[in-house]
Amino acid sequence: MPKDSRDSRYDILFEPMRIGPKLAKNRFFQVPHCNGGGYRDPSAVAEMRRTKAEGGWGVIFTEQTEIHPTSEITPFIEQHLWEDKDIPALAAMADAMKSHGALAGIQLAYSGINGPNLYSREVPLAVSGGPILTFTSDPVQARTMDREDIRNLRRWFRNAFRRSQTAGFDLICLYGAHGFGILQHFLSRATNQRTDEYGGSLENRSRFLREIVEEAREETKGELAISLRLSLHEAGSFGFSNAEVRDFIEMHAELPDIWDLAQGTWEACSGTSRFKPEGAQEDLVLGIKALTPRPVVGVGRFTSADAMVRQIRSGILDFIGAARPSIADPFLPKKIEEGRFDDIRECIGCNICVSGDMTGGISRCTQNTAFMEEWRKGWHPERARPKGASETVLIVGAGPSGLEAALQSAKRGYHVTLAEASATLGGRVARERLLPGLSAWGRVADFRTGQLAPLVNAEIYRESRLTADDVLAMGAQHVAIATGASWRRDAVARFHLHPIPTDPAMPVFCPDDIMAGGGPQGGRVALYDDDHFYMGSVIAEVLVARGCAVDFFTPAAKVAEWSENTLEQAIIMRRLLELGVKVQTGKVPDRIGKAEVTVACVWTGAEVQMRADAVVMVTSRSPHDGLYQDLRARRADWADAGVLSVKLIGDAAAPGPIAWATYAGRRFAEEIDTVDDAGDTPSFRREVAALEPLPVALAAMSG
Ligand code: ADP
Ligand code: SF4
Repeated sequence: MPKDSRDSRYDILFEPMRIGPKLAKNRFFQVPHCNGGGYRDPSAVAEMRRTKAEGGWGVIFTEQTEIHPTSEITPFIEQHLWEDKDIPALAAMADAMKSHGALAGIQLAYSGINGPNLYSREVPLAVSGGPILTFTSDPVQARTMDREDIRNLRRWFRNAFRRSQTAGFDLICLYGAHGFGILQHFLSRATNQRTDEYGGSLENRSRFLREIVEEAREETKGELAISLRLSLHEAGSFGFSNAEVRDFIEMHAELPDIWDLAQGTWEACSGTSRFKPEGAQEDLVLGIKALTPRPVVGVGRFTSADAMVRQIRSGILDFIGAARPSIADPFLPKKIEEGRFDDIRECIGCNICVSGDMTGGISRCTQNTAFMEEWRKGWHPERARPKGASETVLIVGAGPSGLEAALQSAKRGYHVTLAEASATLGGRVARERLLPGLSAWGRVADFRTGQLAPLVNAEIYRESRLTADDVLAMGAQHVAIATGASWRRDAVARFHLHPIPTDPAMPVFCPDDIMAGGGPQGGRVALYDDDHFYMGSVIAEVLVARGCAVDFFTPAAKVAEWSENTLEQAIIMRRLLELGVKVQTGKVPDRIGKAEVTVACVWTGAEVQMRADAVVMVTSRSPHDGLYQDLRARRADWADAGVLSVKLIGDAAAPGPIAWATYAGRRFAEEIDTVDDAGDTPSFRREVAALEPLPVALAAMSG
């Protein structure tokens, strides 16, 4: 669609914008974001960034790039630019970023007090020494840098500037946000307790920044644009507060070519939709533009074009920064440009992408199933590969996995029938979207049903609970069974692998009961969480809203401990305490009586009685694989019915987060008509490290 077809209201988003010596083609700015692939998966990361270039972003950044082995954040997998041999991987990424006219940016980081150096084994160096400040409280301290260390660090930055330019980047981002980058450690009185010319007054604390910005310009001959990524507010009495950030920007109004302003901690900046609305940092950034002639970019999980225009028109931002919205929909700018608003795959704010980085896995996205599979599997966020020799596909169950399987199969050109037992499409998200704070999760279903609606080769049947007879009578060539799972009520999960003794007089419920409006409406409720993600705390919120007094107990040392990976654990704990929920950690139910639960301490085994009018179990789920098993038992009938394959996908195969289900749906669709080698080869491409020649001394020793 030509550009002049777009609504003129959005023209402002597509104005070319100057950033120092560079010109961005529009105001869409993909801020640096991690992806769990980093240096381990260079081609996968490069290809992921290429899709963003194709999708119309004006500026695209790498993730955090560590400039020196004296500061690395293993187990997180980011980028390295430690020596010249790191350049080719980053050059490939820069090349991919520039493939459709975007500017390519590299984020350079030195982690200081935040780098435990578990891989390099170097002594950590910090502005002021002390225990390393990481999520995992690594048991090592950093040494305070002396003047010589600071001179060395400036040189290491210079080396990184030179290597960044050689790799072909247009912009350099200096990382001083989220408590992670040493620039923030210099600026903040919390982490800078120096008494020399780098500590004390704001002017002194700014010295290192001024020096390296100057040196970046010198080293790159002024050819690269310099972005400064700072936190808008650091909490605590010594933190680099929003007021001081403003003083700093006013004092150094023309220091960088662009100010990239991110909320406070990573948890605050990348808040989930459960706790943070779109545009949540507006108060912190408002008015900063008036302090500097340089452009300002900020984030806010922006997915609405109108909200973006408002940010620009009301003078809050010059560029629309986005990490998660660009992950969920790499084609967001192009879709706005072409007025294809219904095609925008909106981020749901679940932070499953973050969990890929936090766990050292590889990031996935609930909404964009192609994320990080662009190179590994050749998946694309928009394009589907042409269909194979077969014609017909039947999907049973319209939850996240069934909807994704149906959409992707239909996009490939198969004739798709989607049968759903209930009257509502969406499966678990149709229920979970009604829980407190989770309404945005409904986008998983809305996007897919919206995309399926106009496709003439996709038929949807509601209120159609299929049996094996029905499936065989329909005679589709390929069948996906996406029939979901339901929560158990018998305490079986991680701690208890078998059901516990339970008096039938005690009412026992599970999240499915609560979501259906059933369960306790008051009284004292013992809520046992052996699931460890969001569901236990969300159900507690529902129960409190119903007037129940909730005792929340879990075998873990923390509530919702897996939600550390989505940056939510602390805020979940706060929410529970604020709601008056009584939290008990390290506790499990041993048996359930008529009016009480016998609770055991996981460390000592000591038992106490917990009085309860009802029990709610948030434990594990039983897959609904009955239909699949029935069909397997009738394999002999498949050929007559014309059935070639039957696959079990999503929660019906292995219950997990929604992102696991949408991925399974995509995988089913992608693999129709492919040769199934029963797993003899990995289902994805990977890069295997090339061996270096053996060092001479070692070669001699080994004869
Ligand atoms: P997933 O997360 O794997 O997509 P869900 O539990 O969200 O799983 O969705 C499963 C869907 O399958 C539900 O909407 C459920 O009503 C539907 N379903 C279950 N059994 C059948 C069946 N036999 N025929 C048609 N639909 C079914
Ligand atoms: Fe958004 Fe969730 Fe995708 Fe992350 S995983 S980009 S938060 S939808």
